[in-house]
Amino acid sequence: MQQRLQERKQQHLYRYRKTISSACGAEVNINNKAYIDFSSNDYLGLANHPLVVETLKKSAQKYGVGSGASHLVSGHSDAHERLENEIATLTGRDRAIVFSSGYMANLGVISAVFGKGDFIFEDKWNHASLLDGGLISGARFQRYLHNDISNLKSHLDKNKLGNHNSTQQTLIVTDGVFSMDGDIAPLKELASTAEKNQAVLMVDDAHGFGVLGENGLGCAELLNLNQQQLPILMATFGKALGTYGAFVAGSNALIESIIQFSRNYIYTTALPPALMDATRCSLRLLQEESERRVQLRYNIQYFRSEAKLLNLPLSDSQTPIQPLLVGSSERVSQLAKKLEEAGVLVGAIRPPTVPKNTARLRITFSAAHKQEHIEALLECLKQQKSFFKKADQ
Ligand SMILES: *Cc1c(COP(=O)(O)O)cnc(C)c1O
Repeated sequence: MQQRLQERKQQHLYRYRKTISSACGAEVNINNKAYIDFSSNDYLGLANHPLVVETLKKSAQKYGVGSGASHLVSGHSDAHERLENEIATLTGRDRAIVFSSGYMANLGVISAVFGKGDFIFEDKWNHASLLDGGLISGARFQRYLHNDISNLKSHLDKNKLGNHNSTQQTLIVTDGVFSMDGDIAPLKELASTAEKNQAVLMVDDAHGFGVLGENGLGCAELLNLNQQQLPILMATFGKALGTYGAFVAGSNALIESIIQFSRNYIYTTALPPALMDATRCSLRLLQEESERRVQLRYNIQYFRSEAKLLNLPLSDSQTPIQPLLVGSSERVSQLAKKLEEAGVLVGAIRPPTVPKNTARLRITFSAAHKQEHIEALLECLKQQKSFFKKADQ
């Protein structure tokens, strides 16, 4: 162990945890020092919203803290049912099911439905949990180039030759919004490619749900994809909704298959019922406080226009995830440390999370950020501009 740990340090890939001693928000505390946080996924500022907190408290008074068992034993409550029904209605799907986390949902749905003899095609930059789900399913598993429909098609065509029987299933799976780049997958094209190839499309909308679309219902709403076009819709509660957990929505057969066959669903304790009520409160706030999405969009646009003036290496992302490419792991660690010393927290993302030589700052925006927070961030980035030199050239 020691040798591997030492190597990781030498490669500037060592990870450290910051210990936060305040609630999630635009400003957080570490060791009695205040920081502006541009690294959380609390896009709408709901993680510490008074109504969500109050709902959690009230519901805990009724249900207690723990659910006490897994869903198939005695952990499944009417609070879980209410949330599932509400999500099905909101997303226009037949049914929805709640998982303990997004990671579990992705492993659980893929391996419950797909297995030996099936084919799975994944975007190269998919979230680790989707890749792991594909691997443990036992299906034949291939990755296509990022957002590259023609590369996906050539993978599909190659695998058509020879092996085709009626029970063989094909899954195409992608992030809706890519977690390290913030770009949106070409879901319309993926849906029509899936249809032409009798494949099933699955989208992980962890970063789109709550943020994108007229009502904040994510990529499926933004691009108007119904259940037939997008049969497996997955999203999480731990990001824009500010709570914890995840859901999968789709046909009755899909949800029943999960209940019957998904090991990641069956063999784990159900989430606390109070958390289900808190999540329903967040869903209600998506509608009632839609100005949060307006503020978030404003914050993103303001940052982008100012960063452009500073010639910072912006990507094309229009979502709250704004990466700034640095390149080397060593430099990105140094840069993040400089910003931290100045009181600004941003993600320093290095391999293996992203490809080699593409280490970057991952700056995330929230409706909770005020103008002065963004100004402070821009000022820090301006002072550290020399770190971006390489990416400029
Ligand atoms: C965060 C994330 C997950 C995991 O969700 P958790 O609820 O945190 O386990 C899955 N997929 C994507 C794209 C994510 O960003």
